[in-house]
Amino acid sequence: MNQAQAFVFCALLGVSASACAPKEKQHDAFLQVDAPFQDFVHNFEQVSAQEGQPLEINDLVVQFGSTPSLNETGVCEWADNETPRITVNQRIWNTLNDYDKQEVIFHELGHCILKRIHQNTEMMAYNGTVQVAESIMYPYRISGTIYRDNIVHYHDELFSKHDQF
Ligand SMILES: [Zn+2]
Repeated sequence: MNQAQAFVFCALLGVSASACAPKEKQHDAFLQVDAPFQDFVHNFEQVSAQEGQPLEINDLVVQFGSTPSLNETGVCEWADNETPRITVNQRIWNTLNDYDKQEVIFHELGHCILKRIHQNTEMMAYNGTVQVAESIMYPYRISGTIYRDNIVHYHDELFSKHDQF
């Protein structure tokens, strides 16, 4: 569709001009990372730089709230032209250690910032005796201990090239 046709199409639908504008970022960047999450979001930026994909997060909401199911620790919601939003279950969060917490926030930032999808594959852990998640984007939580012991791998994997949504 050329531009003239696109204009007519929009006019016929009676939608606003902005709804028909070329797909660009139309909302203003908005950053509201609540205090318990700030260190982890900052860590994510640091790791992104270490991994050669420096990111500066300026459009994100992270806050406590209700997740779709009671045993879900966090959820990311994002859509074109909206500020991505991570909601964390406070009851579960309060039981986590710092490695667990980083794993949870990095997983959700994987969705909300890197636009990554879940990855189900497993790998042999560093000690060669157990199968563990190959990616932070594993659909289930990775224990803080396994995360810590394989953290270099998980950070490398998170910022390498992947299929996106
Ligand atoms: Zn997920």
